[in-house]
Amino acid sequence: MAINFTTRLSTEPAETVVPETTEAPIGYVHSIESFGSVDGPGIRFVAFLQGCRMRCEFCHNPDTWNIGSGEPYTADELIAKALPYKAFWGKEGGITCSGGESLIQIDFLIDLFKKCKAQGINTCLDTCGQPFTYKEPFFSKFKELMKYTDLSMVDIKHIDPEGHKKLTGFSNEHILEMIEYMSNHGHHMWIRHVLIPERTDYDCYLERLGDYIKTLNNVDRVEVLPYHTMGIVKYEKMGIKYPLEGIEPPTHDRVVNAERLLHTADYSK
Ligand code: SF4
Repeated sequence: MAINFTTRLSTEPAETVVPETTEAPIGYVHSIESFGSVDGPGIRFVAFLQGCRMRCEFCHNPDTWNIGSGEPYTADELIAKALPYKAFWGKEGGITCSGGESLIQIDFLIDLFKKCKAQGINTCLDTCGQPFTYKEPFFSKFKELMKYTDLSMVDIKHIDPEGHKKLTGFSNEHILEMIEYMSNHGHHMWIRHVLIPERTDYDCYLERLGDYIKTLNNVDRVEVLPYHTMGIVKYEKMGIKYPLEGIEPPTHDRVVNAERLLHTADYSK
């Protein structure tokens, strides 16, 4: 169910039946980064879509959670906003959709990425995978989206289902199903893992995650992202208690250790 998916219709009166093909899916955008350098290959125009159902304890963007707010854009409007930066994209760059959780707005993503590919624009999907399901209508839409997605950046927040639930509010079952679908169908991925003391920074979990990633195909890069506390100020502003109060970022040695256990050097693209 696309909760925050609405449509912008043409000027037909309300009682007129409008064929589905005239509808333009609307994407609700939290913010835009014109020169993103960490959200996919090359320099990228990044649209951070509004809305996320997860509640990761380490989330540094709680202002993206609310579903149904954000700045409305059609795909054409967003591409028009991105195109002035095309000269900077080079061979690798392009457009990334991140979040929040971008897959919540899958109808908009399909329209956007399809139009990007028609114009030769590289597309990257940054997702936590939580909305993924084999149930319809989502699964058919997901397969359609994958036709137009050059790369997916996928977070594995925690390899252990219980640990994942404690950390994010959801089990990792659907997320791993999505990753395995991508692995089995030739869809390229970067896998990222946030290293958090007292949560994910345990050798047993890291070894398990490293072993799991080794079973996957089409993984072009594995990244360890050290937990940071830069989001605290947003929690204060929003009047939300910060869940990881007192937990400091991991030391350099622990980051190096995690990179070793996740075999990041083996994924070099
Ligand atoms: S999935 Fe991303 S946006 Fe959603 S709560 Fe987790 S870190 Fe925040």
